[in-house]
Amino acid sequence: METATASLIDGRQIAATVRQEVKASVDAWTAKGHRAPVLKVVLIGGDPASASYVRGKNRACAEAGIESETMTYDADLSEADLLTLIRDLNGDPNVDGILIQLPLPRHIDEAKVLRAISPAKDVDCFHPENVGNLVTGEPGLKPATPAGIMEMLKRSGIETRGATAVVIGRSNIVGKPMANLLVQKGIDATVTVCHSRTPDLADVCRRADILIAAIGRAGFVTADMVKPGAAVIDVGINRVEDPTRKSGYRLVGDVDFNAVREVAGHITPVPGGVGPMTIAMLLKNTLFAATGSWS
Ligand code: NAP
Repeated sequence: METATASLIDGRQIAATVRQEVKASVDAWTAKGHRAPVLKVVLIGGDPASASYVRGKNRACAEAGIESETMTYDADLSEADLLTLIRDLNGDPNVDGILIQLPLPRHIDEAKVLRAISPAKDVDCFHPENVGNLVTGEPGLKPATPAGIMEMLKRSGIETRGATAVVIGRSNIVGKPMANLLVQKGIDATVTVCHSRTPDLADVCRRADILIAAIGRAGFVTADMVKPGAAVIDVGINRVEDPTRKSGYRLVGDVDFNAVREVAGHITPVPGGVGPMTIAMLLKNTLFAATGSWS
């Protein structure tokens, strides 16, 4: 007997479409005589993973016609100097977006730094004013990963209205904003947020028409936790040892992909799912910061 497997939500393809749309909007903006949108990325310390993320962001900006500049500082940059730099960027009319690559060195107060960024230039959407706007449903900048997931759901024809959505994870970057986006008027999902203290987690997950895993544990979501036909969105990025790879590891998500795809209706792969959407939405946020429009 043939078993139905879930349709794959191709994050790379959806992200490529979003990136082309951003490029078309940037081209239309500059054709009207405006300068190109400008993003400043601040990279502190020599963390290779952060440097590689920043290179990816710069490449994506260049392809979309967005000018991005990485400002690189040694790990001993003082908090006061960083705050001065942010004040200068806030006041610079030729800068539209500011991104401080996290994590920061331990001697710098991350919350203080993120609050110092002008909300209008806060393309990562970490400033409390932008977080507040997200909760109240005001238009404006949205955090890239959850906004990318909303875009994926929409473009994959997954109905949110009336759906039961379960988000596993309550971080400020993914879980909480994700739940807030899903519960907005017009999106109309009924949302439950789970975390490490949630009792009967598997039972809660089994009720989900849309299950979003943002935990950071390889293969956490197993097939028995998934309602048949559900849309399963895997945010997790986890390294697992793999001696067959040159690097000695491979990346997997929070979902036991091979087993869950036999039960789910839709599923995102890792890599190639949520990850590419995050960069695409950073570009969209930069476009919005520069032009005041999403298109
Ligand atoms: P985080 O801040 O570490 O949050 C993880 C959440 O998972 C916490 O709320 C935690 O609960 C919950 N959790 C941990 N163990 C659990 C368990 N056994 N049962 C139920 N809940 C549990 O992580 P994050 O920043 O949200 O990121 C989550 C994952 O997504 C990571 O793998 C990260 O690398 C990935 N990520 C991917 C992208 C992308 O672009 N694809 C972007 C951001 C993050 P408590 O709050 O109770 O501790």
